[in-house]
Amino acid sequence: MTGANEALLRVDGLEVHFTAGRGKLVRAVNGVTFDLLPGETLGLVGESGCGKSTLGRALLRLGPITGGHVRFDGSDVASGTAASIERLRRETAMIFQDPYNALNPRHTIGAALAEVLLVQGKVPKGEVKARVVALMEMVGLSPDLADRRPAALSGGQCQRAGIARALAVEPKLIVADECVAALDVSIQAQIINLMIELKARMKLALIFIAHDLGVVRRLSDRVAVMYLGRIVEIGRTEDVFGQPRHPYTRALMRAIPEIDPDRGLPQDPLGGEPPSPLDLPAGCAFHPRCPDVMPVCTRNPVPASRPVGACAVACHLYDDQRTDHHHSSLQQPRETIHV
Ligand code: SF4
Repeated sequence: MTGANEALLRVDGLEVHFTAGRGKLVRAVNGVTFDLLPGETLGLVGESGCGKSTLGRALLRLGPITGGHVRFDGSDVASGTAASIERLRRETAMIFQDPYNALNPRHTIGAALAEVLLVQGKVPKGEVKARVVALMEMVGLSPDLADRRPAALSGGQCQRAGIARALAVEPKLIVADECVAALDVSIQAQIINLMIELKARMKLALIFIAHDLGVVRRLSDRVAVMYLGRIVEIGRTEDVFGQPRHPYTRALMRAIPEIDPDRGLPQDPLGGEPPSPLDLPAGCAFHPRCPDVMPVCTRNPVPASRPVGACAVACHLYDDQRTDHHHSSLQQPRETIHV
């Protein structure tokens, strides 16, 4: 069992590769390493296509893993036995973006929750009905809705049902993938408040994948910023938002408040050609868009993540012995990013 200061999830050098059209290799997740403590919330941000959803699914073994290690509560699930995968199913859950697709359209909400309870053996058969009512109340759904099918519910009600289904397994870890992105703004706020309340009450560890930085800031203890399959910066939320160190993180953080603090990430925060994971540039994959690019960035692979201030950052700007940089953007961060 994991102690309070021991990682619940330990991800080390995780790789997820796909073969795309014309046999090209896509490194959707490209050497990702991080830990997650019990009860901790990690926000995972980055533009569409950066690999964050693929990473989330791989962590729960809902998608393939090409290499590296994922240890959940002490057991390696990346190369794990059927028993360790089964345990992962019993102790983790995923909340999806589209609540209608995530629920079986033929099952009522009550039946969907009862099925999880019975399959996972969470309560004796005679107590299933009472537990379904308790779960629905926990997520702010009237138990009167237990007989409805997903199509008869609003988007917000459906997402609450999706959260209830995730909670039914009494998980230690939930991965929520853009779970409010499809909802109206007022409903988004209700669901976020519900998640804040539930994670505090149930001491859930949460990986919260989102493109909405305002939501991530409210919900997360730490934030990881992904770019083309790699985590380029990770740290406590206040440090990443307060003093972003990686040029990509800076661009994201500067672009948002000028527009609307609760708006999503711009799809192209730095201008220039959107990156293609099919054709990664040599050196640092961010170099064609980076305002701080140096010759070393086009020649050498991006360095491993290393401590910079209170965060960990993968960027040549922080090489100890750099000789060819053209200016120190560490002391003088650029003021203007054109969105
Ligand atoms: Fe920019 Fe170079 Fe850092 Fe990449 S390694 S983000 S190109 S400064």
